[in-house]
Amino acid sequence: MNAEIIYHINAADTLISANDAWDDFAIANDAAQVKREHVLGKVLWQLLSDPTTSLVYHQVCTVARGGVPLRFVFRCDSPGVRRLLEMDVLPHPAGQIEFRTRAISETPCDPTPLLAAAAAAPREARELLRVCSWCNNFFAGGHWVGVSEAILKLGLMTHSPMPMITHGVCESCKESLKQAVDEMKQMKRKNTPEPADQPLFKLGAPPSN
Ligand SMILES: [Zn+2]
Repeated sequence: MNAEIIYHINAADTLISANDAWDDFAIANDAAQVKREHVLGKVLWQLLSDPTTSLVYHQVCTVARGGVPLRFVFRCDSPGVRRLLEMDVLPHPAGQIEFRTRAISETPCDPTPLLAAAAAAPREARELLRVCSWCNNFFAGGHWVGVSEAILKLGLMTHSPMPMITHGVCESCKESLKQAVDEMKQMKRKNTPEPADQPLFKLGAPPSN
C-alpha cells in the first residue's frame, strides 16, 4: 500500500467518493467486489462485516460530526500480509466526513495459520468488549470512556479478530436509572396514581458523562 486512501461519506453515511488508491488496494487484496464501481452510493456500514468494527466506526463518526478530528491506528490483515494502518477522520461541513488511511507497517507472513486462527477462534473464547447500552461508552482500563479514549486505551482497532461486544450499563447511566426508580417509589408513597401513558424511563436521551 503506497498511496494514501482517501474517501468521503455524506451526512447519511453514504460513500460518495474514493480515490484511485481505494481501487488499487481492493485489487491488491483480491477484493474486486469493493472497487468503487460497486460501492459508491452504498452506506458505509454495509461494507463492514464485523459488528464491533461497525459500532466503533459509528461512534467515531459521531465524534467527528461533533467537530473533533480523530487519528488512530488499526489492524487490517490480508492473506500473506500483516498490516498496521493509520487513519485520520476529519469533519467536513454539512455532516460529511473525510477518511484518510496510510500504512504504518506491512509485514509478509504465512497466510494460512493467521487467517485460520482468526476464523477458528470460538466466539466465547474471544475477548469481550463492554459497551454501555445507554450512552455507548466503552469500558477501558477500569473506567467508562468515550470512543477516542477507548481506541487508545484498548488498542481497540488493532485486534484480530475484533473483540465481541457485550452490553452493560455504565456507572453514570446506572445512577440515572436508580434516580428514576427512586422517584417512582416516592410517587407511589405519595399515593399519586401513575399516569398510564408515561414511560418509566425516558429513552432516547441518554445522560452524557
Ligand atoms: Zn452509559
